[in-house]
Amino acid sequence: MSTDAISGALIAVTSESGYPHLVNSLSDDEKIARIEHHFAEIMTTLGLDIDHDSLRRSPHRYAKMLVNELFSGLSSENFPRITTLENSFGYDQPLIETNIAIHSVCEHHFVPIVGYSHIAYIPGERVIGLSKLNRIAEYYARRPQVQERLTCQIRATLSQVLETENVAVVIDALHFCVRMRGIQDRDALTRTADLGGKFRAGDERRDLFASLTKLSEVDI
Ligand SMILES: [Zn+2]
Repeated sequence: MSTDAISGALIAVTSESGYPHLVNSLSDDEKIARIEHHFAEIMTTLGLDIDHDSLRRSPHRYAKMLVNELFSGLSSENFPRITTLENSFGYDQPLIETNIAIHSVCEHHFVPIVGYSHIAYIPGERVIGLSKLNRIAEYYARRPQVQERLTCQIRATLSQVLETENVAVVIDALHFCVRMRGIQDRDALTRTADLGGKFRAGDERRDLFASLTKLSEVDI
């Protein structure tokens, strides 16, 4: 069985069309220092006592969390290592992985988007380890996002990695900007879908949606 290592940085870049990203030369430590300074200003402006024991480290914690965790997907260096395998068993039916946890942040309000992605593909010449589906979804989720773009970026990347158009991505998510503010609807869930190749119509499309957990059964 032959394996192909994929150049992560290259794929990470080619799937970025439309993402509002300006690459700068700051190191992670420099980013953390700047964000820490500015977030302390925000806290002070809000009237918080940042010299209080409980708040003193919050600007640093917040800055570190943004750079290293919530927005780690802004750095192409963090694109997962992907290796594909030859489809030596000739499997040519849909493979569907459901309920892949999504933790993202709405780029309009900077509050969480949480939910699940469901990924399906029909292998051609190549197959991929299941956990890589999770890792690619996580890479694009770990940045400020809109759900529609997140869905398309995951599908475009997998299509490129797997060398087939027969890839589908569906995301069901709860937006805290809808839940905690504005309309304050605590149960509204949003579904997006980017369907490629055979998943656009016919049996594959019908079977894909039939296999997905009903929204009301998803425990978020
Ligand atoms: Zn929002």
